[in-house]
Amino acid sequence: RSMMEKILKRRSLQLREQQQAWQESLQGKKMLEFRRSLPAYKERDALLTAISQNQVIIISGQTGCGKTTQIPQYILESEIDSGNGALCNIICTQPRRISAISVSERVASERGEKLGESVGYKVRLEGVKGKDTHLLFCTTGILLRRLLVDRNLKGVTHVIVDEIHERGMNEDFLLIVLKDLLPRRTELKLILMSATLDAELFSSYFGGAPIVRIPGFTYPVQTYFLEDILEMSGYKLTPYNQIDDYGQEKMWKMGKQAPRKRKSQIASAVEDALGAADFEDYSPQTRESLSCWNPDCIGFNLIEYILCHICENERPGAVLVFMTGWDDISSLKDKLQTHPVLGDPTRVLLLACHGSMATSEQRLIFDEPADGVRKIVLATNIAETSITINDVVFVLDCGKAKETSYDALNNTPCLLPSWISKVSAQQRRGRAGRVQPGECYHLYPRCVYDAFAEYQLPEILRTPLQSLCLQIKSLKLGSISEFLSRALQSPELLAVQNAIDYLKIIGALDENENLTLLGRYLSMLPVEPKLGKMLILGAILNCLDPILTIVAGLSVRDPFLTPFDKKDLAEAAKSQFSRDYSDHLALVRAYEGWKDAEINFGGYDYCWKNFLSVQSMKAIDALRKDFFSLLRDTGLPDGHTSTSTAWNRDEHLIRAIICYGLYPGICSVVNNEKSSSLKTMEDGQVLLYSNSVNARESQIPYPWLAFNEKIKVKSVFLRDSTAVSDSMVLLFGGSIVRGDMDGHLKMLGGYLEFFMNLSVVEMYETIKRLLDELIQD
Ligand code: ADP
Ligand code: MG
Repeated sequence: RSMMEKILKRRSLQLREQQQAWQESLQGKKMLEFRRSLPAYKERDALLTAISQNQVIIISGQTGCGKTTQIPQYILESEIDSGNGALCNIICTQPRRISAISVSERVASERGEKLGESVGYKVRLEGVKGKDTHLLFCTTGILLRRLLVDRNLKGVTHVIVDEIHERGMNEDFLLIVLKDLLPRRTELKLILMSATLDAELFSSYFGGAPIVRIPGFTYPVQTYFLEDILEMSGYKLTPYNQIDDYGQEKMWKMGKQAPRKRKSQIASAVEDALGAADFEDYSPQTRESLSCWNPDCIGFNLIEYILCHICENERPGAVLVFMTGWDDISSLKDKLQTHPVLGDPTRVLLLACHGSMATSEQRLIFDEPADGVRKIVLATNIAETSITINDVVFVLDCGKAKETSYDALNNTPCLLPSWISKVSAQQRRGRAGRVQPGECYHLYPRCVYDAFAEYQLPEILRTPLQSLCLQIKSLKLGSISEFLSRALQSPELLAVQNAIDYLKIIGALDENENLTLLGRYLSMLPVEPKLGKMLILGAILNCLDPILTIVAGLSVRDPFLTPFDKKDLAEAAKSQFSRDYSDHLALVRAYEGWKDAEINFGGYDYCWKNFLSVQSMKAIDALRKDFFSLLRDTGLPDGHTSTSTAWNRDEHLIRAIICYGLYPGICSVVNNEKSSSLKTMEDGQVLLYSNSVNARESQIPYPWLAFNEKIKVKSVFLRDSTAVSDSMVLLFGGSIVRGDMDGHLKMLGGYLEFFMNLSVVEMYETIKRLLDELIQD
């Protein structure tokens, strides 16, 4: 033991020497000077004292004040200075992989080191970490996984949970687990960091833990709302027949949780704004500019107009545009690149910033552009609090963010752009005033802003809880509902029950809520259970190549583009890929065609001709590899590589695997003379999205469609479906891993009875016949 102590002591001394040498070097001094200019520095001593005197503290401070990059570093530095460097082991979680990576790089460079020395990171499938890494940035998911094998976080001295104000599901989950852990690990320190001031909730959750506030400073920001922008641009605010859509759109996205009052508040606010305007002036231009209210189509023209205005008339300074997602960002970027001013690289440096960008692309965002070149960054809400771009002076805010919402009553998830909260809008605005007085253009009327909710609902209250429930079980945390009742804010009982029921139906949990073998495999795969099921069965049945494409395709945005004005052409292009009543198989063909074209550098042309998104194709390509390595970690596929030709490609088999994954997402097809109508057990009549290949077929000669997702707008719509046969539903519709044949029969029996009014005897006869047929096959 004394040997070990000696080694640690020597190592601690080395660390101290290294740190001092850097801080005394020329570059190190310059870096220190910058770091000392950050608001967090003034609180350094107070923070370190608070941490040493309390097991839990909460730190709140404006974005950019130095929480993420400085506070973990203060702890590390002070441990090193006091000669305990080799003993400390700090973990700092980030909600997104991109921030974990970029922050760790930044902190390493602030310490004059390379990544993997004292500072490292770990995200899913990637990481840089050395044996002397004492400060690790990781995603919240990674820490949760570690808890799976290391319940007490042995050897960890500090856990820092960052961005808790976002109230992400993983963070809320982690807090419950850590709260249980603290009494077992009395010397472990927990530090929570928030970018908003409402830290009391967290403090009282942890028995009145002290809050340290870092005072912030921002320059004044001149604010414009849509009406100001339109006036400035010479457009006139006029009524627009979007009011209906508008009302409708609210229903999807707010789901059940939104109080009725708020819906009508927004609707009437818009009506007021529009009603006050002039009916005559109903030009297409105005319509275009107002389309920024439509969630599916942010007013690109309006954005272009403002950007152009800034470039031509305004003082220097970077521009940050908040958009809803990667897809909008890339299409706006494409559009702007053809613009005479905005697309001119000698005048404008156009960059994107979103969760799935490459690390190299990321670095550019922080760099200063050449003289006379204006940096324009198109970003998702990732730039709201987790990434700080230094030189921003102008902000454009579309007022929306993509968030998952979940309607427990209909048990239907939605991923749609929805209005942000007032707090988010203020955050976005604040980004403009960090270095000098700034300007913020909100692309919506003030009355809409006034109707925003104060805060966004925590994720745990608005998303399906299936994956979370699996995690609770795999971490052996006891009863799901008991565990979740101890959350900061507990989800509705109905939502919890729905998730448990679903997991039972698919065979991931048994009757007593214990994890089955399938459940254990699913909890190892950080994807939705339905995708996990496809991967698992694809691996077992030696059919992984096409399944990887399908699963990857379901995880990125729809690669089949449907431009507004070329809808027919686009749909026709998609149906070329389909001969067999399956959107999923169409995707496989489209991807494989792209892959072939790509080898001869024809990938871009191929996508252009076929209305496919190049970005989605590339994303699928990358994700396929990720999923394959994830799967390999579970030990399921042996042998082949992800693209090996040895994989089975039989279409019936692929269909069966799709059915297995998507079950119980299946609907029955009732063929009439002219058309097919669709029904599910819960919703009755359902419809297909117009871009489904099955929507173009007048008849679907199969008894069932397995669908990926249903979304409630006015009616229930199915997205992405594959026709499947009786025997597939029968054999793959339940859980084959559990081998619960009885359950299958009952399930299918239920369907048959419901749709065909068969008696129970006839029902079993039919099933027997089907089984016999299958065996003869
Ligand atoms: P907070 O977490 O409080 O929002 P950060 O610690 O992320 O703040 O950032 C503090 C400051 O460090 C930022 O205002 C910015 O000036 C600087 N900074 C952060 N990341 C980088 C980077 N990758 N490159 C250059 N400067 C950075
Ligand atoms: Mg931060």
